Amino acid sequence: MGINIKNGREIERMRTAGRLVAIIHDRIERAIAPGVTTAELDAIAREALSEADATSSFLGYHGFPGHICASVNEEIVHGIPGPRVLQEGDIVSVDVGAIVDGFHGDSAWTYPVGRVSDEAAGLLVATEGALQTAVAAAVAGRRLGAVSNAVERYAGERGYGVVREYGGHGIGRQMHEDPHVPNHGDPTRGTPLRQGLTLAIEPMLTTGGEETRVLADKWTVVTADGSLAAHFEHTVVVTTEGGDVLTERLAPVLH
Ligand code: MG
Ligand code: MG
Repeated sequence: MGINIKNGREIERMRTAGRLVAIIHDRIERAIAPGVTTAELDAIAREALSEADATSSFLGYHGFPGHICASVNEEIVHGIPGPRVLQEGDIVSVDVGAIVDGFHGDSAWTYPVGRVSDEAAGLLVATEGALQTAVAAAVAGRRLGAVSNAVERYAGERGYGVVREYGGHGIGRQMHEDPHVPNHGDPTRGTPLRQGLTLAIEPMLTTGGEETRVLADKWTVVTADGSLAAHFEHTVVVTTEGGDVLTERLAPVLH
């Protein structure tokens, strides 16, 4: 599996997939409140995908049972939607992936449930900031390490942990294409960034350590120390001016 550079038509198809992913996030964000289950969030995605004649990137992927991933508090990624009831003060990371016309879009956002602690609110701001900084670093002519290093530096300067065992990825006709996009690294190393390279950039930050473990359900990844985790992700295309975001949120984010 080599590095897959997309042409203009392919990028427009990915933008269509990205736009649907953004719409699903907008609908899910409006529904998030204390008392709502993560299965209800999954149903919103299922209905929106069906309306658009699209399919989930995640449903059935190595047997994953949800249309989205929903990861609460110390859960970092790959949480399975289900009967868990969201509580005031929780944070919930929602990962949405859609296949439209043969191409994937992939974006994650961590949402507050009602009023959250200053610690949680700060984590959300920092993780979104790390994503924006990394997207800006995805400049054609640089190395992939520039993106990875942007996350590591941004988080480190603010005192947050960076999850190292999981990261971003190339994306296109497959959800996961080369290259792997670590959230730490040397800015002068790694794959050369070329115009038309499409990447899912996805920092995962914690309020504590960087170690992770997987729960007995074999999917849900949590912080080993129980600290809070946040996950923000965009699908972007590398340009000479940085990452052009294909999963840009259209409606203003509510929080
Ligand atoms: Mg994702
Ligand atoms: Mg991804």
